[in-house]
Amino acid sequence: MFEHVETYPGDPILTLNETFIADTRAGKINLGIGVYLNDASKLPVMRAVAEAETALLQSPGVRPYLPMEGAPAYRKQVQRLLFGADSAALAAKRIATAQTLGGSGALKVGGDFLKSYFPKAQVWICDPTWDNHRAIFGGAGFTVNAYPYYSAALQHVDFDAMLAALGKVPAGDIVVLHACCHNPTGADLSEQQWRTLATLVRERGLLPFFDIAYQGFGAGLDEDAFAIRHFVAEGIPLLVASSFSKNFSLYGERCGSLSIVCDNAPEADNVLGQLKAAVRRNYSNPPTHGARIISAVLENPALDAEWTGELNAMRGRIQAMREGLYAQLRALRPDRNFDYLIKQTGMFSYTGLTVAQVRKLREESAIYLLESGRICIAALTQATLSTVAAAIAKVID
Ligand code: PMP
Repeated sequence: MFEHVETYPGDPILTLNETFIADTRAGKINLGIGVYLNDASKLPVMRAVAEAETALLQSPGVRPYLPMEGAPAYRKQVQRLLFGADSAALAAKRIATAQTLGGSGALKVGGDFLKSYFPKAQVWICDPTWDNHRAIFGGAGFTVNAYPYYSAALQHVDFDAMLAALGKVPAGDIVVLHACCHNPTGADLSEQQWRTLATLVRERGLLPFFDIAYQGFGAGLDEDAFAIRHFVAEGIPLLVASSFSKNFSLYGERCGSLSIVCDNAPEADNVLGQLKAAVRRNYSNPPTHGARIISAVLENPALDAEWTGELNAMRGRIQAMREGLYAQLRALRPDRNFDYLIKQTGMFSYTGLTVAQVRKLREESAIYLLESGRICIAALTQATLSTVAAAIAKVID
């Protein structure tokens, strides 16, 4: 019956992780992962999260099905974080928001919704991007195209090439944008570039779909939402998929959200209704536990402040690792330019290392990174920094 089912080749990132685990060499270092680790190489349990969870467990409540669109308290807090407490669009009730299964679930529900209501549109993703973008939008039935984004020669975004390509995209097509902390490159647009892009998107009638999986890891919670808030202020209808996996260190709880900014409140009501329908057809309704923790933190000013402080410290640790690696590489290889390390933001950095160099690092130094040259800066520690710097300095020509 199932003889025609092919072997799943696996996800390159997860496969690399399995190879790392099987590696018996002492002192092996895994920079291939996509999670934030603390300086002891552990996933952090944030104090604000632990406090909120402890309080919840002390008075265990019933676990009904949540509404299809998720818990009202959670949805309200998500909206505040993404759009700002003083958002005019929120006050006008023109934003439809649903709780989803992580950022991935938001992209999937958004993809299904868009395919129903914009069946002829095509999707444009940046080159390179998080691999699942292509898979999710392709899986929702869209033709998926790529627009130029990162230039290895510039070690940064090639904004002119990006604008030129998007300037030719047909009206009504969907453009996926990383709101901050681009994965995999770490290269983001400046505020001025976002403004220029917003003008183009509005003039050409494109439909932006923002993906924000690292809010708070770039420059701060509000700063990282700049692009989204600017586009909303410009009156551009758009979608936002957000994730709490990283900024709450709650990966397995699958907490995310999908918001659609509409032209007016009746439109947003209808859109929310259709998001419910899309959720119903996928998994009926989202889970309770993680959402309860997150809304308990965000609703309580003391816990909210504690969480923001912890998140700021995580961002500070990443920045310290960036600067540390930069300083050491510069000292070891004054002939080379490593400015990209301190210009990029978020957990990741595109190093420009070739596949051959990446393999050499793995084989000779037991240092693992993706073959694209992406390293997870958030997986570096004070203890591994010099080993990694020395090994990279050695493999580059
Ligand atoms: N978008 C991007 C750009 C990501 O990097 C990730 C997570 N790696 C996601 C979405 C998905 O987030 P989640 O794990 O919450 O589904």
